[in-house]
Amino acid sequence: MRKSVVAIVGRPNVGKSTIFNRLVGERISIVEDIPGVTRDRIYAEGDWLTSTFNVIDTGGIEIGDEPLLVQMRHQAEVAIDEADVIIFLVNGKEGITAADEEVAKLLYKSNKPIVLGVNKIDNPEMRERIYEFYSLGFGEPYPISGAHGLGLGDLLDDVVSNFPEKPEEAPDDDTIYFSLIGRPNVGKSSLVNALLNEERVIVSEMEGTTRDAIDTHLHKDDQDFVIIDTAGMRKRGKVYESTEKYSVLRALKAIERSDVVLVLIDAETGIREQDKKIAGYAHEAGRAIVIVVNKWDTIESDEKAIKEFEEKVRAHFLFLDYAPIVFLSARTKKRLHTLIPAIGLASENHSKRIATNVLNDVLMDAIAMNPTPTLKGKRLKVLYGTQVAVKPPSFVIFVNEPELMHFSYRRFLENKIREAFGFVGTPIKIFARKRQ
Ligand code: GDP
Ligand code: GDP
Repeated sequence: MRKSVVAIVGRPNVGKSTIFNRLVGERISIVEDIPGVTRDRIYAEGDWLTSTFNVIDTGGIEIGDEPLLVQMRHQAEVAIDEADVIIFLVNGKEGITAADEEVAKLLYKSNKPIVLGVNKIDNPEMRERIYEFYSLGFGEPYPISGAHGLGLGDLLDDVVSNFPEKPEEAPDDDTIYFSLIGRPNVGKSSLVNALLNEERVIVSEMEGTTRDAIDTHLHKDDQDFVIIDTAGMRKRGKVYESTEKYSVLRALKAIERSDVVLVLIDAETGIREQDKKIAGYAHEAGRAIVIVVNKWDTIESDEKAIKEFEEKVRAHFLFLDYAPIVFLSARTKKRLHTLIPAIGLASENHSKRIATNVLNDVLMDAIAMNPTPTLKGKRLKVLYGTQVAVKPPSFVIFVNEPELMHFSYRRFLENKIREAFGFVGTPIKIFARKRQ
């Protein structure tokens, strides 16, 4: 279930973010639309041949105003702690520098596979520059050019060949995996504890799942759950842990393993930009989502207050209009009982399948009600639709010309599908495909 992780390390300006962008390609991201600092994205999915993996650009993890060497040390630590394979990047134009040797020293101590990329080899004449890098002691240096996209294939072949054997897939039972994400201090740890104490369950730490999180088993309402708790496990003493980028990275790793993601908001301090950003990642990853407004004990709580807060949440999280909102207090356990049913419902919808004939009845009714759009005299023709995947539910709609399926019409069809089948708590995906 877990994807392999590749980290790119190297001193500044060798081309880490250039290579990162090459590996993850042009992926449309709603998160990127949220204004923020540059070099925002340091963790994303990449693929090569039949492998999909996640890439970390460690250059994006900056720790305050620390001197360069300290920054590089922390970046290498992140790579060693988080990655399955490390790409050590150097600059072929400049040759080996003292800073490269510093990074190399840190990497020697890890027992992770390391693949050496010599970047900025922009043309074949420059290839001979790679030889001096043998002396770094990481075996064959790969000549690459991030700027021109050259040589990446050979490098990636080596990276992929070093991926660990696929970890045992968890048995495909009905266990619901969920994680809690949100800013520091929203109450993630408190909520996990409240859930566990409340249920007086046999709390068992599951062994060897990952080093990133503690997985705890929870049985409630005849349903098995696993809580993926990143907040509860802190790598004590690691300086980089306090950086925002790193906490986002940890959250992303947890999201990836989850069926349902609880997006926590602090009722006391209200909604912040960072909340939206974190929630955006869960949405993009196609996970089921429940919005949890915690610390509800601090609010004058009545139906009116709930309604008002709900309106605020809806206005801020337009892209999560499908997510149910639960108001509770991890501290007093007020309304805590409303959480597990919401998780169960979101999960059920996340893996719901709609029969093709039923789906098409809904599509045809929708089209009869709101005729398909035209563009330059050509009208969109919808032939039929079918559900092709779950988690999240994904639909392919066969049409005459996919370009004619305008965003607003796709949205209209999505709304009709939601009206007919619910899908509370889960994103759904709709793809238009050409069929004559
Ligand atoms: P980082 O600090 O390691 O992330 O490095 P960047 O990716 O920001 O790149 C640093 C500079 O090197 C930028 O000006 C890039 O345009 C340039 N650069 C990156 N890759 C190549 C390459 O393959 N060839 C050349 N000539 N320049 C490159
Ligand atoms: P985390 O960083 O997201 O794991 O947050 P914690 O669980 O450590 O909680 C941060 C702080 O918020 C602690 O002081 C908690 O006692 C407090 N807190 C957590 N949940 C609640 C709640 O429901 N109500 C109130 N008033 N405080 C809470």
